[in-house]
Amino acid sequence: MNGSKLFMIIFLLALFTVLGTEKLSDMGVHNTEKKRKISDEEFRDEFFSDRMRGRREELSPQCRQYLRQVENEAVYFPVPESTLDPSLETSYADSWMGERTYAGKRGHEGTDIMADRNQRGLYPVVSITDGVISNIGWLDKGGYRLGITTADGTYYYYAHLDSYANIKEGSPVKAGELLGYMGDSGYGPEGTTGQFDVHLHIGIYFYQDGEEINVNPYHLLKFLENNKLKYAYS
Ligand SMILES: [Zn+2]
Repeated sequence: MNGSKLFMIIFLLALFTVLGTEKLSDMGVHNTEKKRKISDEEFRDEFFSDRMRGRREELSPQCRQYLRQVENEAVYFPVPESTLDPSLETSYADSWMGERTYAGKRGHEGTDIMADRNQRGLYPVVSITDGVISNIGWLDKGGYRLGITTADGTYYYYAHLDSYANIKEGSPVKAGELLGYMGDSGYGPEGTTGQFDVHLHIGIYFYQDGEEINVNPYHLLKFLENNKLKYAYS
């Protein structure tokens, strides 16, 4: 065997070794992600991000099912645009699991949609999904809050309202239906207002085997901005 043949054999062996290792480590990554449960913090934090929806084959079947469920049921951004005053905007940041201290130190289980104009009772709040009003009324933490459960069992939580539309526990609602008006209620006994700026707190929960799993609503809200209703308010 001459020198160049030997070199070629060594080169090919090296090439196969590198390719083989990459292939194996690739499979390793896929297997780890496939085992990801919906209770995993990374899944909950990145829920509904473009990246997650673009690489859903890497998720476990269960995680994929929850993603599909929300894709099917979530229709509208919860705060419509004003046709009368374009300056009535809203803004929000990704603050999921940020620290909150009212009623004990805890992580923020949702996204706060802030009203650019800090006026309670002005901005309408509409349902993101079809569903049934499963909770309504005062909570010290959430103020005038309501919860909507969809046919697939996702729970959408809306908090700190100023007032409710004509709805009650057990009422069926349609996506886009008026639920009430944005406010600053909560952080005290019934009727407390003004402990923070006017905003809508949105939370999303799944229930599995008696366990409550809260996911970050931020990426879904970003997605739903493409689907804002228009209401006449000012
Ligand atoms: Zn909040």
